[in-house]
Order: sequence, then structure tokens, then C-alpha cells
Amino acid sequence: MSQRFALILGPVGVGQERADFAGTFTVVDAAAPALSVGELSTQRGDGVFESIGVVDSHAQEVTAHLERLANSARICDLPEPNLEQWRQAIAVAAAECPAGEWVIKLILSRGVEHGPTPTAWVTAAPASDFTAVRSAGVSIVTLDRGYPLDIAERSPWLLLGAKTLSYAVNMAALREARRRGAGDAVFLSSDGFVLEAPTASLILRFGDRFITPAPTGGILHGTTQLSVYEFLAGRGFETGYEQVRASDLGRADAAWLVSSVRLAVAITAVDGQSLPVDHALTTELNKYLLSPRD
Ligand code: PLP
Repeated sequence: MSQRFALILGPVGVGQERADFAGTFTVVDAAAPALSVGELSTQRGDGVFESIGVVDSHAQEVTAHLERLANSARICDLPEPNLEQWRQAIAVAAAECPAGEWVIKLILSRGVEHGPTPTAWVTAAPASDFTAVRSAGVSIVTLDRGYPLDIAERSPWLLLGAKTLSYAVNMAALREARRRGAGDAVFLSSDGFVLEAPTASLILRFGDRFITPAPTGGILHGTTQLSVYEFLAGRGFETGYEQVRASDLGRADAAWLVSSVRLAVAITAVDGQSLPVDHALTTELNKYLLSPRD
């Protein structure tokens, strides 16, 4: 996924309300180096990010992503982002995305070591082609994250509810899943509850009721899961947030991993045991998720 467009956001306080932030943006050559070697994002993974799906030049669910960016910044003690400035930067980037599926990334880092302000930038790149996995589904293995369910409240310095740039552990979990012959992973708490996938939320179906692990701080609250719940509620299905025991995973009538760019992918097997796949509903979900959503 090579970047095709990048812009850097100049420092703007939250109190600075103005109609047009274009003068605070610097478009940079997406193929050329643009960051200082002192950047704390690269040195320490110290910052937060968002990945927004773009379909035919329309950036999806921008408000939900901006709210989560602000929440991640709050958890990480980063200065409050000026959301109007970010919204306008997203609009500039989306206008650079031709037809098809693209991904816009928002990155807010703590900045250069001993520097005065955070560094903020936005990129746009073509999305990977997820057509095959959306129709075939994915097998998963469960992996112990090593923390109990209530860890976020007890140890907020672990930053568990924030979408931080420190994704090395998530990537390692995906590699472990592949070593075990699966396509993806679902993390479990050390006390046996289901959490989330390394880059997606989990939704389970039991009859006409859909549940997802409660985002009580230990996991990221997925914007796609929220969209899927809106769709399901509109179809008259019951939806809810619960503590889900690991043993419930294999009993589900169907299950999905959902995320902003790959969208809805059915889970075909859990730890080698097959799970029923609802192909028709998966197709409907992806059709909905590919339609313009604000
Ligand atoms: N959980 C984790 C850990 C993620 O990294 C992601 C997305 O990258 C999600 C859940 C799903 O979030 P969203 O639907 O907003 O993409």
C-alpha cells in the first residue's frame, strides 16, 4: 500500500476556530522523506492514529473516526486535536482519491523529542483488494493477551482503549495466527473473555441476537461495529454489548471480524473447529458498508 498523497497539519489550538484551515496544510511529496529523525512516533510508537475507508472519493464515518482520535489523544495525554482542522484535511485527502477503495490515515504523534508541538499528518493510499476474503471468510485462532478483563481501569498507562501507533504486538499476533495455519486472531483476556482481533472488532450471532464484547476500556470501540449495529437494528435484529466467554465463541451461529477498510469478514473456524457462515448476510453487510456513510 504505497502512499499517493500526504499533507502535514500545522499546529492549531482547539480554541482557534476559523472557517478555513487550508493555510495550515502543507502538501508534501508522498514518496519523499518528510519526518524528522527525532520523531517520537518512529522512535517510540508514541502517538495515535486512525484508518478511514474511502469509497469512490467518499471518506466513511469521518465523525466517528475523529471522535475516536480525540479519545485516543485524551488517553495518551496528547494535546486535544482541533477536529475541524482534521475534518478539512480529510476532505482535501479524499478529493485526491479516485474511484475505488482507498484508505486515509490520520496520524498524531507526540512530535519531535523536546520539540514544542505534536506532529500531525494525513495520508491517502489505495486499499488492498479484500474482495476474496470478504466472500471466503477467515479462520481464526484465539490468543491470550495476558491481561484480565478489568485491566484498563486498573492500569490506564497501558493505553488499552486508545488506537496508539504501537501496533507491533498486534502484527506479531497476526504472524502467530499464520504460523498456526489461521488467517487472523482473536485476543482473549487472561480470565477467559473474548476481546477483539488485532485489527478488527468481533461480532457474534446467536439466533436473531447479535453481541460484541463490551468496549469497557480494554478494547477499541470499532466504528465499523457501530455501523453494523445500526444496519442490524434497522433490520429489526437485537444487538448488545456483553462480556463474552471464550467458550461462547465456538457456539455462535455465525461470527464476523469487522473493520474500516477490510469491512465484514465471516469467521469460518475457531481454533480448527468450523463455524457456520452466513454468506447472504455477509454480502448484505459489505454492500451496506460500501455505501456512502457519514
Ligand atoms: N480493534 C482494533 C485493535 C483495531 O485495530 C481496529 C481497527 O483497526 C478495530 C478494532 C476496528 O475498528 P474500526 O472498525 O474503527 O476500523
